[in-house]
Amino acid sequence: MIPMSSSVRRLIMASISNTLSLKHGLSLWCPQSTPLNRIHRGSCSFPSRSFRRCFTVSASSFANENREFVIVGGGNSAGYAARTFVEHGMASGKLCIVSKEAYAPYERPALTKAYLFPLDKKPARLPGFHTCVGTGGERQTPDWYKEQGIEMLYEDPIVNVDTEKQTLKTNSGKLLKYGSLIIATGCSASRFPDKIGGNLPGVHYIRDVADADSLISSLEKAKKVVVVGGGYIGMEVAAATSGWNLDTTVIFPEDHLMPRLFTPSLAQKYEKLYQDYGVKFVKGTSIKNLEAGPDGHVSGVKLENGSTIEADTVVIGIGAKPAVGPFEKIGLNSSVGGIQVDGQFRTGIPGIFAIGDVAAFPLKIYDRISRVEHVDHARRSAQHCVKSLLTAHTDTYDYLPYFYSRVFEYEGSPRKVWWQFFGDNVGETVQIGNFDPKVATFWIDSGILKGVLLESGTAEVRFGTDTEFCEIV
Ligand SMILES: Cc1cc2nc3c(=O)[nH]c(=O)nc-3n(C[C@H](O)[C@H](O)[C@H](O)COP(=O)(O)OP(=O)(O)OC[C@H]3O[C@@H](n4cnc5c(N)ncnc54)[C@H](O)[C@@H]3O)c2cc1C
Repeated sequence: MIPMSSSVRRLIMASISNTLSLKHGLSLWCPQSTPLNRIHRGSCSFPSRSFRRCFTVSASSFANENREFVIVGGGNSAGYAARTFVEHGMASGKLCIVSKEAYAPYERPALTKAYLFPLDKKPARLPGFHTCVGTGGERQTPDWYKEQGIEMLYEDPIVNVDTEKQTLKTNSGKLLKYGSLIIATGCSASRFPDKIGGNLPGVHYIRDVADADSLISSLEKAKKVVVVGGGYIGMEVAAATSGWNLDTTVIFPEDHLMPRLFTPSLAQKYEKLYQDYGVKFVKGTSIKNLEAGPDGHVSGVKLENGSTIEADTVVIGIGAKPAVGPFEKIGLNSSVGGIQVDGQFRTGIPGIFAIGDVAAFPLKIYDRISRVEHVDHARRSAQHCVKSLLTAHTDTYDYLPYFYSRVFEYEGSPRKVWWQFFGDNVGETVQIGNFDPKVATFWIDSGILKGVLLESGTAEVRFGTDTEFCEIV
């Protein structure tokens, strides 16, 4: 049995805090991470204390009524930021959220989990997974925002920013005013170029509800599905399509599943599990192009080795890019990828903050600047930022990286898998458990515990994670 009754989180924290200078191998968290001592402070000087920007507006020529705080992006971190504004009594009449999507913030991870359950197995649908159910909070439906006096502008992305005038322009031409601005634009899915068939009908990327709806309508007619990518999105989608009893093949260029996290022996166990569910793997090969049939719809995936795999539905899960869009031009430091912030999520421009996937922040325990594209950080960064913005709270964000995935959870599945990872995957590994069903892998570097991966632990083992979330997404 795995000795996990004590808190692994605390254990990792304690062991890591004893080490000031850490050695790093391959990092799971941020391919572009940069040691803090190599960041040129001159290129991104953070304001020493100003948090909220001075703010007086008399003109009424702006399209938003709430102007003191504006959040750009209506995703996971925006939802948690909204809750924190409400908790501080600073939302009503003051906060505006501008979203590209048609929906109030929701728990995005559900899209490749319960949202894709077979249609006869109670798939999750909105409003079931609006934020903040993931942490057991109140479900923030569109009505909740109205009741809290938060102004929501939907389906109108920001395309321009004027930092002198403190204004934003939306795609439809609306001019908005802000006092303090929080950038929460997340990531967009990396795509295959047009010229290799990346936008053919039947080719899908999953980032939002609209993408997931479009995939579901393909799955309803599908016979053969190809999933490109062996990361967690690919794994989740393949688990889902096998639940739909669809012929599913996963293709990736590496030697095994989840190459950035799983050890070869762990990957072997999961690959076997997927194969037991009927999923096929084509490993160690890249895609040359996606082929179209006579009707223009995707019909197959051509590999570099010359072979072709037939497919009527292709799902691409090859990573994501920070959605820096309109903020690239305004002089925010993005040299490490994303938008660089300090330990209170302040950018180099007074009154402008960035949170969630898009923020490159000082990851204190590893002494480097990192972006983390996982929901736990989206929630915590939002709460930390808003607290710093509204109060005298000046603690530096001190984050222990965490993420999870859940597969094969639909009703009737013989083995429901929930794995979660804490810390950093550097050093040597020790595996405990026989995958029957539990397994744990520990990463140990110079005698210090750096990371832990747990599968299918009990509620005690999962210490402090989201019980309501488990049921819903
Ligand atoms: C399918 C999927 C499954 C996932 N599963 C897991 C998981 O199992 N475990 C885990 O830890 N993490 C998971 N994640 C990652 C997690 O969802 C993200 O880390 C989290 O959503 C980040 O929150 P965010 O607010 O930074 O960005 P998002 O939630 O992506 O929100 C960004 C929002 O900003 C909007 N936007 C972008 N540009 C503009 C603009 N110019 N103007 C206005 N709005 C704009 C976007 O449309 C979006 O609504 C998953 C992500 C996806 C896509």
